[in-house]
Amino acid sequence: MTHAPGAAEANGSSLSDAHKPAKRVKRRVSTAHLKTVPETLAEREEIKNAAERFATNLDKSRAFNKSQLEAFGRQMLADMGRPEKYLGFAMVLIGNFFWRQQFLATPFERRLLLLPHCLKHAEGCPAEYDEFGLDCEKCGACSIADYKVRAEQLGYKVLVAEGSPIVLKIIVSGYVNGILGVACLNVLEKAIDKVLIAGVPSYAVPLHSGDCKNTTLDEAWIWEVLEKYEPLEEQQTQSYLPLMRASNRLFDDEERFARLLPRVRSKTAEQAATPLGRTEHTAYDWLQHGGKRFRPFITLAAYDAMTGGEAIAAGAGGDDATVPDGVGRVAMAIEAFHKASLVHDDIEDSDLYRYGRETLHRSLGVGPAINIGDHLIGIGYKLVTAARKEIGAEAAADILDRMANAHVRLCDGQGAEMAWQAAPDFTLTPLDALQIYALKTSPAFEAALYAGIRMAGPAEAFEEMIPQFARHVGVGFQILNDLKDWRGDVNNKLVAGQDALSLRPTVLLALALQEASDEQKATIRSALSGEEPTSVRLGRLRRVFNDLQVFEKADSLVEKSRARAEQLADAVEQEDLRRLLYFFIDTVLAEEDAPAPKSNVLVQLPVTAGA
Ligand code: SF4
Repeated sequence: MTHAPGAAEANGSSLSDAHKPAKRVKRRVSTAHLKTVPETLAEREEIKNAAERFATNLDKSRAFNKSQLEAFGRQMLADMGRPEKYLGFAMVLIGNFFWRQQFLATPFERRLLLLPHCLKHAEGCPAEYDEFGLDCEKCGACSIADYKVRAEQLGYKVLVAEGSPIVLKIIVSGYVNGILGVACLNVLEKAIDKVLIAGVPSYAVPLHSGDCKNTTLDEAWIWEVLEKYEPLEEQQTQSYLPLMRASNRLFDDEERFARLLPRVRSKTAEQAATPLGRTEHTAYDWLQHGGKRFRPFITLAAYDAMTGGEAIAAGAGGDDATVPDGVGRVAMAIEAFHKASLVHDDIEDSDLYRYGRETLHRSLGVGPAINIGDHLIGIGYKLVTAARKEIGAEAAADILDRMANAHVRLCDGQGAEMAWQAAPDFTLTPLDALQIYALKTSPAFEAALYAGIRMAGPAEAFEEMIPQFARHVGVGFQILNDLKDWRGDVNNKLVAGQDALSLRPTVLLALALQEASDEQKATIRSALSGEEPTSVRLGRLRRVFNDLQVFEKADSLVEKSRARAEQLADAVEQEDLRRLLYFFIDTVLAEEDAPAPKSNVLVQLPVTAGA
């Protein structure tokens, strides 16, 4: 393997270290101010050509993360004597040439063309939006129709939408193996953490500006790849795609689902409609549908990492990972426990929607919903015990022990939160809130990771690392959720500040109380318990939070959690497991937007996915 000259200094380590399973000794730097697209085509072509040369020397066996890509971009610009403001642009182009061959080797019918709706003719576009984005009517007033028509002729799936949730949903569902995307650098930066580190061959054409209206792009760059197909003899880069698909298939493949978890009382539609069959039918329905299946993916990926990493080595275009039945059952059990906790959680929090449909207690009543949650817990234990012949009785017992512990801690955390809500104590400290977070969120991550590692063999060497890692990631995830609550889009809740106004012991509230003057404390109290309209109370609370820099402080707590989780991952010797832990961190703690929006304006995504 040869390396790009000089990239070493950019990351403070050798290029091979940076690109391999890089131990993360320092935090990535924000590139928010580095997203200028060069003004002239000649300049853009110059950087594009340099990126092609630079990428030739990169080791293609492993995907990179954003900090590694940033190091490459900085080095390339330094070598060219080009300013740092082009960093985002350079990163995208290096990424393109890293993946180009593998993207071109993706059959047309397994590709996704993702176009931004801001390319449309802003004034006269007759197209409406549906759940998949803009439904272009091909009126010909903008270039969207040209790309869409040709791409669809070739066999592409085409989406005119922005937002990674729907893209990731399509990818993990197994329909596409590669993405050709047109977007502004802001959107592409977000996509890097979500799509590239998963190992999805992608090729991106940056828009010339992020103005979101009548934007332009280098059209020839799309046509260079859109119509080209060049098969490769073998897949080159590791990818989590086969494992993501395998995780989804556990639930989507009806035949497999039925074999691993046979129905007892709802085998037919008639039985499912009877009082005796209804509970099982509804529980299976909720287990099978909705959610990202991230936790079962972690179990499968941890198992794969500890058994030779065959599935990720197959690359994005590889066959779906073969999951032994026992391993599949345990991964399904992890999802069953998670879904059970959501059903109960929705009741406790009076949530209205989950996975884009009414919550169970809303559609069926509280009693039946509690019962279905309990049924899902039973399914979880049943699946693990059914797996013991394959994974071994001792491993099954250890996993059950971990799951039972996780279950108890989750209830402790949820109980603490409800107790606080019933009798709010405004002496709540950030430490109190963080402890509740650790109990509520981390156990499920811990159980998922532990189960995968334990099924591969003894797990003593990881006994300390797993709970600590899960705690930091879980706490960071929960704080991010708090921050997202202020944007009004978390777990399908589309009303900003819902958690805050429902008197939850959030870390944001605790951070505010810690620094608030008596007057500010009084404002907080009245905002949380007053009779005035929601928007008034929310505005008041937001002002106090802004004055006390609560959002910034919460953001820095997320960064601390991330840094601690990365430190733990750094210390793991097994390369595949370390890589998975980094992927875990990057996925769960992905920054989607600015942490603290200043207004109550909401943007409703076309498709929302539950946690
Ligand atoms: S071609 Fe499609 S996206 Fe473009 S203006 Fe016409 S309907 Fe709208």
